[in-house]
Amino acid sequence: TNERGRRPAWLRAKLPYGPTYRRVLDIVETHRLHTVCQSARCPNMGECWTAGTATFMILGNVCTRSCGFCAVKTGRPDPLDWDEPRRVAEAVRLMGIRHAVVTSVDRDDLEDGGAALFAETIRQIRALNPGVTVEVLIPDFQGNWDALQLVLDERPDILNHNVETVPRLYRRVRPQARYERSLELLWRAKQAGLRTKSGIMVGLGETKEEVLAVMDDFARIRLDIMTIGQYLQPTRMHLPVEEFVHPDVFRWYKEMGEAKGIGHVESGPLVRSSYHAERHV
Ligand code: SF4
Ligand code: SF4
Repeated sequence: TNERGRRPAWLRAKLPYGPTYRRVLDIVETHRLHTVCQSARCPNMGECWTAGTATFMILGNVCTRSCGFCAVKTGRPDPLDWDEPRRVAEAVRLMGIRHAVVTSVDRDDLEDGGAALFAETIRQIRALNPGVTVEVLIPDFQGNWDALQLVLDERPDILNHNVETVPRLYRRVRPQARYERSLELLWRAKQAGLRTKSGIMVGLGETKEEVLAVMDDFARIRLDIMTIGQYLQPTRMHLPVEEFVHPDVFRWYKEMGEAKGIGHVESGPLVRSSYHAERHV
């Protein structure tokens, strides 16, 4: 049996269906947008899209990196599309989104990693949708802190950047990234006065002690929100699932993280970076 066939009952999410789902799909397609929901084959599409929520993925749909867990295509990306921020803002309006989540592929081919287009997207969403809060889930910009500043200057309501896994597994899971660099990014955002968020996937072969050590690092950089979810293999070409972590362990992680001083820990098998994101603004 494949991985999908072996999944325990707690990972079987609802399939997407219904008129709201159709409408979200229609808005995304007619605005030539990409969503991480589709690219990552997220198991929550049934729930989120039925509720009218989606996570937009900007800067194209081809990534310069090749993380072992990620279903986004790797290759030479398309040129930047400066009309994309306007279309994202318009889609937010049409979908009636109250908390907009925007992420991107990594654009290591660009000097600023796409930060200026991120900043423009925040501006356009707000200009067209007064009162809507904005969460950005950003790349590490290869440690270009001037590029980061372009995003921080827009004061997004939540600045999210995932460390994705424990440092020992970086070479396999996130080969072009560095754990310490990601922590520094989050610390810089915190020092700029922003609400910070990060997360990891579990089930990739990490130990509980290693997860607790990440929590210690997060507490030290005064992270506001942490997400922990089960890694699922998007295709057979991706890293295998080492373990289906039991829901009780997820509950224990939440308690431990909050006891260590992380403001809020969202932890569960189907938790994704943008799952229930509107609850933590
Ligand atoms: Fe999309 Fe995030 Fe919901 Fe998944 S959890 S469907 S990525 S909004
Ligand atoms: Fe996927 Fe992001 Fe890694 Fe690119 S950088 S492969 S989009 S996880």
